[in-house]
Amino acid sequence: MSYLDLDILSIHKALLEGKTKPSLLCKEALERVKKDTNNAFELVNEEEALRLALKLDEEEVPFDNVFYGIPYVLKDNYSTKGIKTTASSNILNDFVPLYDASVYKLLKEAKAVMVAKASMDELAMGGTGTTSHIGTTYNPYDPKHERMIGGSSSGSAASVSASIVPFAIGSDTGDSVRKPASYAGLVGFKPTWGLISRYGLFSYAPSLDTVAYFTRGVDDARLLLNLLVKHDLNDATSLDVTLEDDESKDEAKNITLLVFKDLDVNLKDEVTKNVYHNLLCKLKEQGITIKEVTFGHDLLAAIYPTYNVISFAEATSNNANLDGVKFGPRPEGKTYQEVMMNARTEGFSNLIKRRFVIGSYVLYKENQKTLFLRAKKVRRKIVERLNELLADADGFISLAAPSIAPKFFEATDKLSDAYVINDNYLAIANFSGGPSITLPIGLKDKMPFAVNVTAKTFDDLKLLRIAKVIEKTTGMKGLSYPEVNKYE
Ligand code: GLN
Repeated sequence: MSYLDLDILSIHKALLEGKTKPSLLCKEALERVKKDTNNAFELVNEEEALRLALKLDEEEVPFDNVFYGIPYVLKDNYSTKGIKTTASSNILNDFVPLYDASVYKLLKEAKAVMVAKASMDELAMGGTGTTSHIGTTYNPYDPKHERMIGGSSSGSAASVSASIVPFAIGSDTGDSVRKPASYAGLVGFKPTWGLISRYGLFSYAPSLDTVAYFTRGVDDARLLLNLLVKHDLNDATSLDVTLEDDESKDEAKNITLLVFKDLDVNLKDEVTKNVYHNLLCKLKEQGITIKEVTFGHDLLAAIYPTYNVISFAEATSNNANLDGVKFGPRPEGKTYQEVMMNARTEGFSNLIKRRFVIGSYVLYKENQKTLFLRAKKVRRKIVERLNELLADADGFISLAAPSIAPKFFEATDKLSDAYVINDNYLAIANFSGGPSITLPIGLKDKMPFAVNVTAKTFDDLKLLRIAKVIEKTTGMKGLSYPEVNKYE
């Protein structure tokens, strides 16, 4: 057993008891990063991480800061001063930022040790872990490398589930932490939009982008929330609020969870469905009220296309600065237009190009009303329906994904409700801005699967309380790839 297989609190305890040291943790994490077989990393932060960890060895471990000396991994779309940051895109090859993202700064101040930057789907667009400029990221649960880890926070997910670090920072615009968390057997938490500063997080679609992260358990997700929620004047959308929850940490009392009948009707896989239904029964036994309601099929089916229109449009506009002049390598060209065209032709993969073409199309003056503005109206309608239903409840629950991690190139009927609705509904929490958490509930064919619970904005602490009840019920805490011995 290695301390890196444990959760943050347990590692902190070991540090306090003198059983391990920051430098030992750091060295071991770096070794594991180097032995990584899942193509999870853009960059190993070896020198700086070791320097910091050795310095920490000299100091006394503070009782009140659980992050002291804890190794972690940061998604490569967070700006890190002096450390290459590419968002896994060729257009940002060799780009070295001049400032730190606020999230990275807060973790640095807490003396957590960033050992590597994680690979991701290019510019955080996509959900397969296949579009990074360094190639596909694999799922540690599947040594044959046939099944995906999901994305876009693919490397962050792989690094926690392969026991390299106890937590990793990702980002979530549609489901980019909560979906891979499902495929990787992890807790994936997206807090309320605006609570954690996005300063230094490369924009994909700012009205949806949220700092989110992977941990091995719900308690750790709470610790990170406590650390990262901080009003930040560098981000004009950062909120100045104090989160509250009236009940104690693991009370199941007075909780009502909704089940959307027209969402769950599409769940076809018997194994995952049975485990999920058993969980609902057990939650009922513990006093949680489970109420079945109908969301509205058309609104559910509208989440995915609405997400695409809004996010592609925002992405097109927000990435206009990636022109080959301001950042990254500068290609040949006689005019600004030519430089930009060459930079973008070479710099972006097909997926990005496709999204920018669609994004530009919906933003054309003559299309804005029928496409972009209409999508914004539909987003509002979906959120209004969600709020109406949640007025008498604390959250809604479903399987986070309709299946275990799919195989690469597995045929899916992209027009089926199972795909359009169940594979893409998690974006509803990005529409509303509300907190949303994925946590593992079982294994099928040795691959994990998970539920997701989404709550009202600012109910983050209550959601974590509900998640804790689920975690206790399933006993699935600290899940990581079972063959941790592969490092020995
Ligand atoms: N899978 C979604 C997409 O393709 C979500 C991406 C995200 O959350 N960053 O855009």
